[in-house]
Amino acid sequence: MSTTTNNVLRELKLHSPAGVEPAVFTWPNIDRQSTKKDGVFVGGDEIVKTIRLVFEDYPELYQQNLGLSICDIHSYTNMKELCDKFNKIMDTHIKLNRGTESFSARLERRASSKLFRHILAQVYSRAVTDPDKLRAYEPFSPSVYGETSPDLIDSILKTISLTEDQTFIDLGSGVGNVVLHVAALANCKHVYGIEYEEVPAAYALAMADEFRSWMRWYGKQYSEFQLEQGDFLIHPKIDERIREADVIFVNNYVFGARVNHELKVKFMNMKDGAKIVSSREFCPEAFRLNDRTKNDLGAVMYVSKPEEFFGKVSWSDKSVQYYLHVIDHSKLALYYEKIQQVHSKGTRTNHSKSNDDDNTLSPSSNNSSSNGKNHRQMKSISNQQSQKVDENNSSQHDLKYINRKRKLSTTTPNVNGKK
Ligand code: SAM
Repeated sequence: MSTTTNNVLRELKLHSPAGVEPAVFTWPNIDRQSTKKDGVFVGGDEIVKTIRLVFEDYPELYQQNLGLSICDIHSYTNMKELCDKFNKIMDTHIKLNRGTESFSARLERRASSKLFRHILAQVYSRAVTDPDKLRAYEPFSPSVYGETSPDLIDSILKTISLTEDQTFIDLGSGVGNVVLHVAALANCKHVYGIEYEEVPAAYALAMADEFRSWMRWYGKQYSEFQLEQGDFLIHPKIDERIREADVIFVNNYVFGARVNHELKVKFMNMKDGAKIVSSREFCPEAFRLNDRTKNDLGAVMYVSKPEEFFGKVSWSDKSVQYYLHVIDHSKLALYYEKIQQVHSKGTRTNHSKSNDDDNTLSPSSNNSSSNGKNHRQMKSISNQQSQKVDENNSSQHDLKYINRKRKLSTTTPNVNGKK
């Protein structure tokens, strides 16, 4: 037991429903009372919420006589009594159930979104000892710190529905809130976050430790994850990670043109079907694929603004729209196929006429070459423009796609990212 000049720091313990070491709460928790972050706990508030959530998870263990709704969260004696009653219930539960199939099966489960929010608040309040340090970055620089709200992350997770064999990356992961959220709720292969600023990166490591021990205490599964300090523009393994990623999350609202441009170059190598969720789009929604734009990232992706991706963020009172990009190289391959077809047709019949001289592919025109609409569009590309992709003048990039021996999908790509 430790002491301060004016306060004796006493401890309260809660036994784990998973039968691991108890959670220890110091009383009174002066430091945590003074932090300003939402969800910070006052007095025995955290203990009462923790007990409530354990009983939501194990409703069969709940006992009316605990007096959860009337206990005084500022009274140590009251809270001690509550903890003792709770611990008795947990001890009996462990004694009766440990070693049974149903007990082990419960430890395989994931936390609900509601429980995760509580765990995140517990983790944050212990790991991020001075939240003001996170705000000490030069305004409008890529280092400006801000968090995506858990509501928004929930919506994003629902929409992209990660599968067991998929990987998720947060580029600029701050204190690791998004990575932990995904690791807790999504059953996926691996979650990775990279953050280059020392303060958030150090907090992220503390967050990871706290997260692991609280998840163990509640007996909740989580996906494998890693939070590391580094620069996503130059980290030696980042290109490989990006190439293999299934979902990239990047809260790039204030990254600025240079960083966003460098990211675009990296995203060019992502695999088909991979998704990028970001707070600034990497290609305009109205992107039109033509000779001038064929080297842009927009040539190999579809972008949308799902309404579920509009929500709260920590750095603004207003809600922010996040964008969903889905990589699809067949868009560009299809473009070249059309150009080539028109070109060869043009050289055969020099009299082909067209009213539409816009040699473009936009999301609405995306479809297989067997589709009538595309067929009409193919016809509409003028001979004159098709000369632009004459193989003699083609760049490496052009040739890569002209020569691409891929089966073009006969279905419309999934621009909403829904399975
Ligand atoms: N991903 C978290 C979220 O959305 O809640 C935190 C986002 S915060 C707005 C963006 C973070 O990206 C900042 O902490 C910043 O330091 C980091 N960042 C900016 N450029 C970076 C780079 N080149 N490498 C790694 N992290 C970077």
